[in-house]
Amino acid sequence: MRWSLKNLIQVVALVAIILTFLTSTTAGFRVNKQALIKTTLETNYAYAEKLSSTTDIFLRETLRTLEVNAEEVLPLLDDEEAQQKLNQIVERIRTQTSTFNSVAVSSEDGIVLGVSPPSLEILGEKLTSIGARQAINEMKPVISQPYTGITGELLIFISVPLIKDGEYRGFLGGAIYLNKPNVLEKILGDHFYEDGSYVYVVDSDGKLIYHQQEERLKDNVAGNEAVQKVIKGETGSMQLINTKGVPMLAGYSYLSIADWGIVSQRQVDTSVEPAKEMVLEMAWKSLPLLVLAFLLVYVLSKKIALPLQKLAYYAENSIKSNEQEKMVEVPDWYYEARQLKGAMLHSLDYFKNEMNYFIHQSTTDPLTKLTNRRTMDDFMKQWVENKTPFSIIILDIDKFKRVNDRYGHATGDEVLIYLSDLMQRAVRKQDICCRYGGEEFVILLPKADKVTAYLTAERLREKMEDTISPCGEVVTISLGVAAFPEHADHPARLLELADQSLYEAKRTGRNKTIVASDEPRHE
Ligand code: GH3
Ligand code: MG
Ligand code: MG
Repeated sequence: MRWSLKNLIQVVALVAIILTFLTSTTAGFRVNKQALIKTTLETNYAYAEKLSSTTDIFLRETLRTLEVNAEEVLPLLDDEEAQQKLNQIVERIRTQTSTFNSVAVSSEDGIVLGVSPPSLEILGEKLTSIGARQAINEMKPVISQPYTGITGELLIFISVPLIKDGEYRGFLGGAIYLNKPNVLEKILGDHFYEDGSYVYVVDSDGKLIYHQQEERLKDNVAGNEAVQKVIKGETGSMQLINTKGVPMLAGYSYLSIADWGIVSQRQVDTSVEPAKEMVLEMAWKSLPLLVLAFLLVYVLSKKIALPLQKLAYYAENSIKSNEQEKMVEVPDWYYEARQLKGAMLHSLDYFKNEMNYFIHQSTTDPLTKLTNRRTMDDFMKQWVENKTPFSIIILDIDKFKRVNDRYGHATGDEVLIYLSDLMQRAVRKQDICCRYGGEEFVILLPKADKVTAYLTAERLREKMEDTISPCGEVVTISLGVAAFPEHADHPARLLELADQSLYEAKRTGRNKTIVASDEPRHE
């Protein structure tokens, strides 16, 4: 395929438009995406912090409730009859607060003194669970790490010590089942995450103690970078790949009271979805503008290319003359076209002049400026072909050697120029004067018969005879005449006949004209 300037401009502009569009949309997408990521990180961080403080308040409140109720339990410890009452208190704590799945009072050696719900049937039995042992060992308010209880539930145990008269007498504590509906779930799972974000809580080992998908409880997610940070006690936000290999944006907060970490996270993909939508919307909205730009390019490229296209065409055809005038009319509304057009017109002018000069050089005799012999032959050949009648006069200067000898070659040349001048004045406009060679000349007279030619020859001869040539004396000429087609039907034969007449004129005294086949005439 041959590329025209117009196509090139169109392709370049098209590529430029598309590239600009692509770079601006990708840049827009990137900026938007970064903004969305930042916002999501901030939101998740703020949310984790909020949940952390809510949970902190809740756990403190729970401990406080237990402490208040512990005051009520203490007087009953030494009362043999109080069994009923203890059961009532623990029942009340469980049902009123709806915080605990079970509540119990234990002696200092782990014997259950009161329990709710009674269906657990552990009254009087010795508690050996992690939570109970921790409470007895530490003898202070405790929020246990999650563990699996005797009922097989995953739970945490919250307890306060029972201290009477400075003596440790056991504890009042409650269990919260992590995989059953409880207050913790109300706090953490309240918001449902239509935007694809979710919250989970890990213990100090990185095990899930709260997750919306219950089956994931106890899963160890310490591989998650945010979890690693939060279980070290840090609080913040970050972009990460979760344990399932999905890119996430996480905010995390350390809950010191329970030594837990709360993480709120959302998939990167869902977070940046609006950026993708924005790019699509942007593309859709800029579509009319793009189409307009394409149209503009189409029209402009045509306008820009037209002058050059025309100039190129005329340059290709400039040899066929006349294109120069059309070239002048080529629109040149911008700098390059104007310069190019100017240069082309200029060089075309120059070449025409050069050409004319060379044509002139090749057809004329440099000394006399008369037509040369080759051109003369061409004319005769053409006339013979066209059957155009014509006559020829061949003439030779008499005793020219003597002129050269006497006055020098340069003066001889001046005589030749002088004769040429007289020849041209003596002939009609359409007649052609040629320098045949040396000091011999031929005059071609188209559509002239031998009489006209003879009269012309005589007029010239008389003129020479009557005037003084540049050498200072009269120089005469002898002439021979022949006519086509009367005397010959071939140029060479015609010349030969005319030459013979000239020779005859010389032989019979010079300064005379003789017509072929005619008797010599006297002046
Ligand atoms: P004739 O009457 O028989 O013609 O005698 P002529 O002396 O003219 O004899 P011819 O025609 O044979 O001599 C031609 C001379 O013309 C010879 C040469 O010196 C001279 N001649 C030829 N060409 C030139 C030229 O270009 N310039 C000059 N100055 N002389 C030329
Ligand atoms: Mg001669
Ligand atoms: Mg001569």
